[in-house]
Amino acid sequence: MAIYNPQRRGKLYFRYGTMGSAKTAMLLTTAYNFEERGMQYLCMKPIIDNREKDSVIRSRIGIERRCEWIYPESDMYKNLTEIFKAEGLKEWILIDEAQFLHPDQVDQLARIVDDFGVNVMCYGLRTDFQSHLFDGSRRLFEIADTIDEVKSTCTCGRKTIINARIDREGNVVMDGNQVEIGGNDRYMSMCRRCWTKRRCESEQSSALDFGDESAEP
Ligand SMILES: [Zn+2]
Repeated sequence: MAIYNPQRRGKLYFRYGTMGSAKTAMLLTTAYNFEERGMQYLCMKPIIDNREKDSVIRSRIGIERRCEWIYPESDMYKNLTEIFKAEGLKEWILIDEAQFLHPDQVDQLARIVDDFGVNVMCYGLRTDFQSHLFDGSRRLFEIADTIDEVKSTCTCGRKTIINARIDREGNVVMDGNQVEIGGNDRYMSMCRRCWTKRRCESEQSSALDFGDESAEP
């Protein structure tokens, strides 16, 4: 293939952190810098919510940028090869919410890196609300060339580790699907110690609720 350049050597990067650790803002800042320097890059993001209409990556600080959706069935190798043929080779691929990539898609991205010398930078969460690795993140930890942690701080001053799911009453939730779409729950990133403490408190309060409900009038 004409666009293949054996002199170019790319890397597969994984930058992980908890929610609210400014990963998306970092991605968008990087994209802005690439654009200023006239570099060829592409922003991409797995689509999780089909109701999502605008294909943009948006950060809480208000900046956004157009992106290409990655569908669950997308073959990343095939898709990107087609984009390279149509638009020319990219130097960088920036991917937000990379935890939602299918493990096969991570392997396909690794082949893009190795075959074309393109750099692929994936930003994402390490673990879900139950503190277990996301499938996409697991595969990135397994095969990425470079892994960096984007750190942020818990209200107690420790490093955040956990993306806790919080219900309307403020309790830490441990049951449910890995991805909740359109639910009422929200998330709070916290250190492991605060998470354990909050979880115990939540369990105690729900045990009390249960006692009240089961009491015969
Ligand atoms: Zn804490």
